[in-house]
Order: sequence, then structure tokens, then C-alpha cells
Amino acid sequence: MKIVLTYRMKHNWEVENFLTEHQKLLQRAVNEVWENATWKEKEVKHRYFIGNGEYNYYETTRLIPYFPKSNGFKRELRNKLLKDWPFAKHYVDSAIKTAYSILESWRRNYLKGRRKRKRPLVKRKFVRVKTTLMKVEGSGIRITIKPREKYLELDFSGEWFYERIKDWKVGELIIRESDVLLTFSKEIEFNGRIKIGIDSNLMSLDVYHPEKGWVKVDLSELHRIAETYDGIIDGLKSIQRKATKRITRLLKKYYARRRNRIEDFLDKLAVQLSREFPDAVFVFEDLNKSNMMKNSSKRFNRRLSSSTWSKIVQKLSYRVPVEFVNPAGTSSTCPRCGSKLKSRNGLVECPNCSFRADRQFVGAFNVWMRGLGAALSGDEVDDLLPGEPGGELRLMNPKSVVRVDLMGRAFTQILPENSRRTDPADGII
Ligand SMILES: [Zn+2]
Repeated sequence: MKIVLTYRMKHNWEVENFLTEHQKLLQRAVNEVWENATWKEKEVKHRYFIGNGEYNYYETTRLIPYFPKSNGFKRELRNKLLKDWPFAKHYVDSAIKTAYSILESWRRNYLKGRRKRKRPLVKRKFVRVKTTLMKVEGSGIRITIKPREKYLELDFSGEWFYERIKDWKVGELIIRESDVLLTFSKEIEFNGRIKIGIDSNLMSLDVYHPEKGWVKVDLSELHRIAETYDGIIDGLKSIQRKATKRITRLLKKYYARRRNRIEDFLDKLAVQLSREFPDAVFVFEDLNKSNMMKNSSKRFNRRLSSSTWSKIVQKLSYRVPVEFVNPAGTSSTCPRCGSKLKSRNGLVECPNCSFRADRQFVGAFNVWMRGLGAALSGDEVDDLLPGEPGGELRLMNPKSVVRVDLMGRAFTQILPENSRRTDPADGII
């Protein structure tokens, strides 16, 4: 599996003109392809949910765009764009590619009804630099802007992320107005298994999977079970003196029931987690080194003791490979710049680079990072490279929220309020 990390580095190059010209070039490419699109009428089926697993169907006619893709068209487009392009020719090829991907993404959104039939505008100033336009020597990169005339040079050996990626392969980079996004890739041998990071929290297990993203496993049911029995047990204890023998027997029964119900929950959690991520190595924080339990309140310790957490790990370890990493700093280290994060309004925020995120996400991501053998501090990642500029780590919601299904065989997915869909088939993952 190939892991790609993106890091940001400031520059003080004079690139304003280059970026502006490129923005125009890209817009021209978008315009040309747009103007040559063929629009075909198509009947589109829609359905809406009317309850009881039934749907109403209706059809509408829509105009569907087809963009010209022939080599002939592309060659002509290339020649046209090259006419007054003063920089290296390769940028035209990459602009054409970018134009197509902008239009394809517009098309997908248009088909879903999220965009109007309006030509996309290139708002951001950036240039993608393919490796063909770069010369890499050690930690130095020389970028060709105009052959034999203008080059840009950078050296990333002084950057904080250097130790992490020094033996990695330098990939495409993106030049922006005041910084440059560098990508580094490495083939990582997993023996068929991907590593995933798990952050254990009070109300959830948060999983970071390099392909599936952030998955939140809701544990509120586990707390509900514990609380229910605690309530009964408290009630019994308060009258224990009155009828000692009978109450003691009842107490014993409810203690056992509480234990069994929790055990049952944990069994199902382990089964469902191992099914959800069958090819994964589960990376956990080493809880023996963790001060999570010391920090947690007495109330929590009573509701779910630390042994509950080790049990989750123990039960999983019968089914899937489990690894441990040092938990120090995993939920307080900025994954973008390596600084110490501060808590703010229920989120964590970086005072240095103003990165904001959910603490659970950061925890899972950093555990995953450490699982790869990377150091957390003095370093950092922008992301597992989503292929577009600005595709850095940012404030996000879990890709999915799942709950342990106490009856069935798979996680039940809980849809976030704002994206609640009507299709019941979406309810199961
Ligand atoms: Zn930061």
C-alpha cells in the first residue's frame, strides 16, 4: 500500500505572475472543454421514501453533459493553449488534466442536483508541478518554470517534517501564493494488512482508517447498560440492612447480570469490529502507559472500569492482529505542525497553525501515525493526500458513526442529523 503525506512549506518566490497566468490558462481550458460539450436529454428516475420500505417513483428529463475526450480534441486544445503560454509546455498538459478533473467533479455534483448548469470558475491560484518538471537531489528540489530561463529552488532539510520523510519519494507538488505543498510517498508493506488507529474514549471508540477515514463507534449503549444496573444496585444497597439475606442474593444476581451484559456487549463489539475491518492491524494506545484512567473521574471509574478497556483489546486480539503504541501526546499533538493543541469549545485547536479538529479524530489519527512508525512531534502531516490543493486535514465529521448491534451481525449505522437520508438501505453498512 502506498502512503502519501503532504507537507506545507513557506516560500518567498516571486510567483504572482506565474500563478495568475496559470489561473487564466486553466480557466481557458475549462471554457474550451465546456463549450465543446454535447448535451443530451435523458430520462432520470427519482424515488422518494413513503414509509414501510416503499417508494414512490417519478421521472424527469434532464440535460446531461458529455465532454469531448478524443485525442484529436485534446491535441487541438493543447496547441491552442500553447500559443501564448510563456512557460514550460508541461504546465499546459497538467492544466488540461486539471480542467477535466474540475469538470468531472462539477458533472458529478450536477447529476446529483447540487450544481446549476453553469460553467465552473477557477477561483484558486495554484499550480500543480508534475515530477517531470522537477529535479530532486537529496532534500533539494529544482522546479522548471521556463526552461533555461526561470527555475525555483527549495530545500526541505530544515523543515520540521524532514525526519519523517527523508527516505521517501518526492512526488507532485503544488505551488500556491505563499506556500508550497510537498508530497512524499512510500510503499509500505503490510503483508496484506492495513494499519488502523484506534482511540479509546469515554463514549466512543474512534477509528482512523487510511482509506475509509474516521469511523466513530458509539459506546453510549455500553454506558446505558452499566448505568441501568448501577441504578438497581444502588437501590438495593440502600435497603440492604432491612432484609440482608434476600437483598444480598439479589445484589449478587444484578452484579452478575451487569457483568454478563457488558461482556456480551464487548463480545459483539469485537466481532463487529473485526468484520468491519477484516484486513487491518488494530493499533491501540498502550493503556498501561496511559494516564487516561488516572484522569477520569471516580464516577466514570465506577461505571466502566479500566478493565473494560483492556477487555475490548483482549477480545479483539483473539480475532485480529493488535499492536500498541505509546499514548503520550496522541490527543494533544497537532497533526499538521506538531505543536501542542489547546481545548476550545469542545474541539482542539492549534495555537501555532490554527488547525482545528475534533479531539477524538486527532487521537485516532495520531495513533495511526505512530502505528506507521512516525514520530508525532517536531513534525507533521497535512493529509493522506486527497488529490486537490487545499485538501489538507481540516475540521471534519466522522465518515460514519456506527453502533454495536446487540441483535444482528453488523454495525448499525447512525446517520448524522444533517445528512439524514430517507433510504433505509443506507442504514446498514
Ligand atoms: Zn498546528
